[in-house]
Amino acid sequence: MAMIICPFCKTEIAADATVCHGCGARKGYGPDNHGGVHSGGSIGFLAVVCAILIFVGLSLGGSWLFFTLLGGLGLPFCLFPLLSGPKWYR
Ligand SMILES: [Zn+2]
Repeated sequence: MAMIICPFCKTEIAADATVCHGCGARKGYGPDNHGGVHSGGSIGFLAVVCAILIFVGLSLGGSWLFFTLLGGLGLPFCLFPLLSGPKWYR
């Protein structure tokens, strides 16, 4: 099995591991609000929510464009981590 080195404690761990057994660092797509990290699924879900906000704002117009603005601000924050791949967080 392929092995990688934890960037924090230099422990050798399996390449597909999502948690370092040496220091507890976690691999994911950005820190969440609960002391963990986002999985690909949860950050993908947020990206879809932002896309829906953009679509709703554009189709309803008027003051609903505020939602387009919100989604437009949030979408890059969701897409950028997805495109750059998972990173280690501790
Ligand atoms: Zn580690």
